[in-house]
Amino acid sequence: MSISENLNLVRERMAATARRAGRPPNGITLMAVTKTQPLERIREAYQAGQRLFGENRVQEFTEKINAVRGLSGAEWHMIGHLQTNKAAKAAELFQAVDSVDSLKLAVKLDSTALQLGKKIDVLIEINIGGEAVKTGVDPSSMELEQLLIAAPIFKALSLRGLMTVPPFTEDPEDARPYFRKLRKLRDTIAARRLPGINMDQLSMGMSHDFEIAIEEGSTCVRVGTAIFGERRNN
Ligand SMILES: *Cc1c(COP(=O)(O)O)cnc(C)c1O
Repeated sequence: MSISENLNLVRERMAATARRAGRPPNGITLMAVTKTQPLERIREAYQAGQRLFGENRVQEFTEKINAVRGLSGAEWHMIGHLQTNKAAKAAELFQAVDSVDSLKLAVKLDSTALQLGKKIDVLIEINIGGEAVKTGVDPSSMELEQLLIAAPIFKALSLRGLMTVPPFTEDPEDARPYFRKLRKLRDTIAARRLPGINMDQLSMGMSHDFEIAIEEGSTCVRVGTAIFGERRNN
């Protein structure tokens, strides 16, 4: 199957799931995750109408940026773990960072974006399964509270919601409780009506579980393998 056929299939599955769940299909965005993918394949997705893309490494995207600049209207989000020492570079390269997991990182992104005169949308990445090996903020931590309280003082960052990568489960149905938990956390935060905080976005669901994530309220699914096929390395 070609990339454009895969994209169509994913879009159809997203729309069918949304209808089944009684949600407007246009309330859910498809992000194509292009890590490890060469430029020709990214261009194929672009030509098939895809505009939102995710990359998970600053170094890799630094090597791709010149080539993808020509894809006008394409939007690039950082979705992988970001070390503070790479925050400045990330602020320069990406329109949004969906994987903010510390106040320190947010502060650095904000100051760099301010210097560059650009606005950056951010999501807070939540370690919803409480896994020791995963990045992301613990949902009951002070770190999360600090990020929420600091949000209104950022000049160049807009907090738009939450993101998560749940523990891997063979059966996607087993990811449902994690998605539900993230949605509840989002609702709880939104209900506090904190200043400067928008909680509209819920980035959850990948190739093997995006339908479950949509049923549980996802507004953005991040899909790599189901569009591009198996990744060759990492
Ligand atoms: C790689 C990656 C994805 C996409 O994974 P697939 O299983 O290939 O769809 C989504 N989100 C993040 C954070 C990733 O690193």
